[in-house]
Amino acid sequence: MGTYKNLINGDLVTSSTGEWIDVENPYTQEIIGQAPKGGVADAEAAVAAAVAAYHSSWPKLPAEARAAYLKRFAQIIRDHQQELTDLLIAEQAKVAGLAGVEIGFTAAYFDYYAGWADIYEGEVINSSSARADGTSNENIWLNWKPIGPVAGICPWNFPFFVMARKVAPAILTGCPIVIKPSSTTPLTTLRFAQLIAENIPDLPKGVVNFVAGGGGTLGVALTKHPDIQMVSLTGSVEAGIEIIKNSADKVMKTSLELGGKAPAIVFPDADMDLAVRGVTDSRLIFSGQVCNCCERAYVHESIYDEFVSKLKASFEAAQYGDPNDPTSVYSSQVDKAQLEKITAAVERAKVEGGEVLTGGAPADKPTGYFYEPTIITGARQDSDVVQKEVFGPVLPVIPWSDYDQVIEWANDCEYGLTSSIFSTNVNTVMRGIKDLNFGETYVNREHFEGLQGFHAGWRKTGIGGADGKHGLYEYLQSQVVYLRY
Ligand code: NAD
Repeated sequence: MGTYKNLINGDLVTSSTGEWIDVENPYTQEIIGQAPKGGVADAEAAVAAAVAAYHSSWPKLPAEARAAYLKRFAQIIRDHQQELTDLLIAEQAKVAGLAGVEIGFTAAYFDYYAGWADIYEGEVINSSSARADGTSNENIWLNWKPIGPVAGICPWNFPFFVMARKVAPAILTGCPIVIKPSSTTPLTTLRFAQLIAENIPDLPKGVVNFVAGGGGTLGVALTKHPDIQMVSLTGSVEAGIEIIKNSADKVMKTSLELGGKAPAIVFPDADMDLAVRGVTDSRLIFSGQVCNCCERAYVHESIYDEFVSKLKASFEAAQYGDPNDPTSVYSSQVDKAQLEKITAAVERAKVEGGEVLTGGAPADKPTGYFYEPTIITGARQDSDVVQKEVFGPVLPVIPWSDYDQVIEWANDCEYGLTSSIFSTNVNTVMRGIKDLNFGETYVNREHFEGLQGFHAGWRKTGIGGADGKHGLYEYLQSQVVYLRY
């Protein structure tokens, strides 16, 4: 069993509380490692280190100098690809293929943001000010400056990638950052902290700090800290609301990427096999524990029976088991609590009139917290299984006949992260794109974003977003200069 440390001000340290978080491999149900359980004093120390880094020359360096560290982060990830992949598989039962993709994509993400160093720019704005003779006498320009020390609070489902989603733009723009991984899956992130400390000793102290600990203690302390200028959270709506409340007194910027309940709309002219494959992959990937993946499917009544029959076959064919078995489409849920939440959601769906077409129960396996691939039919639009995030391999499928009605149903949701359309008619697709009110819309493919896009949700899914150019600007604040001559 491995013991991991926090990284504060360039030093690998245990926590001030002296307490530890036991991390379970959800598939084997064995404790595989311990992370320090950081508390208020650890938050203070990490923020002090970040503040000192912010007042050093770090934010004033050319962005290229900071980007050089991002490239080295990418390299140490690639040098330890297999080790990090194995750790990610062990701490959350992500199947090996997907875990490898997450580690590789994280390295690519650091490289991608390094590439922004000589691209991001300010603006020159025409001034209306003029001398007595009518000729212009003023330049206006807009500088972008780093927002300051940031707290990055991460979820358990893509712990390594989401960490990079916060660290990469922060480093590039000159914002020192304190990362708090989820207590459920802190190990891969803390191993990366150790690799940074050992392999990049010249990284200025305090620029990036990693502290594990609970949301209600460490997370709250970071949020309320007067020197933290922005909290970037990826997590639940509940945590996002708490962060807004806890930062209200200091009027702090928040960047919140919260839950989803993605609708897929399948039109009569859809490529049926593509739609079945896309919806199946989207719903079953990582045991359904993905924020942007299909959580409800609306299928035109003219193809409903055929679609549902093919979808049932596809769900029933999905192998699930050992995350290291290449035939496993998915493995255990992340923990017992998650399994219990999914079980309760399906029981509630039945009470509210839904019928289980296939699955509908925890799976009988020797170890792990498995739930069967499950399709629910007959669920009402206002029922919980259609309205609330389940975060498991459970899909309600609903027939529709009227275009305006299905768009209304799709948009009728407190979340607004992603949506998808399956149709071969360009006019239908264009109309659907215009009418859907979500941060992302996928056409004829499952839900997964690219690093060049902008991952941001409407409604309770959050505020702000990540990736690409717009994700970079989250970490910057403007300064407009009026220069009269
Ligand atoms: P969670 O909200 O329970 O925890 C997320 C993080 O917030 C953890 O590190 C936790 O310790 C911390 N936290 C909890 N309460 C806090 C508080 N009051 N103050 C400060 N920090 C606090 O979420 P989770 O269960 O880890 O992740 C699953 C959720 O994340 C799902 O709802 C999923 O949709 C969402 N998610 C969203 C995206 C996205 O891009 N929109 C991506 C991944 C996950």
